[in-house]
Amino acid sequence: YLSRQLEVTLIEFEEESVILVSRDITETERVDAMRRDFIANASHELRTPLTVISGFLEYAQDPDAMANTPVEEQQRQMKLMHRQAEHMTILVSDMLMLSRLESEMRVEDVDIDMPRLLEQQLIAAQALSNGQHEFMADVVQVKLRGSHQEIDSVITNLLSNAVRYTPAGGVISLKWSVTQEGAVLSVSDTGVGIAPEHLPRLTERFYRVNKDQSRASKGTGLGLAIVKHVLIRHQAELKIHSNVGEGSTFIVQFPKERLLK
Ligand code: ADP
Repeated sequence: YLSRQLEVTLIEFEEESVILVSRDITETERVDAMRRDFIANASHELRTPLTVISGFLEYAQDPDAMANTPVEEQQRQMKLMHRQAEHMTILVSDMLMLSRLESEMRVEDVDIDMPRLLEQQLIAAQALSNGQHEFMADVVQVKLRGSHQEIDSVITNLLSNAVRYTPAGGVISLKWSVTQEGAVLSVSDTGVGIAPEHLPRLTERFYRVNKDQSRASKGTGLGLAIVKHVLIRHQAELKIHSNVGEGSTFIVQFPKERLLK
């Protein structure tokens, strides 16, 4: 109780009486601090690619410097700039998606053909893996009631993480099954794994176990934060089991009410 923050305002002050109004602002302060953190992190994430791009553009304005740079080097720099610009596009669209999810704007639920969606997502994950992983799928013919775009982004994020954090030769398994409580979507990998102390913070925005590894694999650090928000909106729960060096399993449990046979 002592660690709560109170804002005290003096309303009236007379000889024999004082009126003070006190308001608990702990929650407001916490939300403000989170917002400040988010803006600081997002600015930092955007500044890194911008520095690369503007550095090269400045150099490119000097005709002598460009004339002395071999064409292959110029092309290498162009590719680098393009990659950085693409990364900014993904980052901005992840930020927009998060802000839309947090705005509590209701989106219309539809009947999602999960087997079809999972098949499409598996093809996309195989393209990302570029033949480096083995894929397994076990999918029941059950539909889910929810937002198509949001559920699609949950599957994209879980599968692309499995690919990005699993070294070549690893196995990625996708399962969609029915249980007594509802339905379960699980994505397992035989990848790098996550130490237990990181698990509770994994769905925080921009939280990464290893920054370099995340950046090298084009991560924005927002994937699991998006997953968390979508699951809250679908009354679903996320559980993570992981062992360092052995792999991870992300399990999403949907309630019975959201299933359609
Ligand atoms: P990122 O874009 O960095 O992957 P995410 O929000 O998707 O951001 O994930 C947060 C962090 O959780 C990652 O940086 C990574 O350290 C860890 N992580 C997520 N999925 C996996 C996985 N399948 N295996 C190992 N680590 C993972």
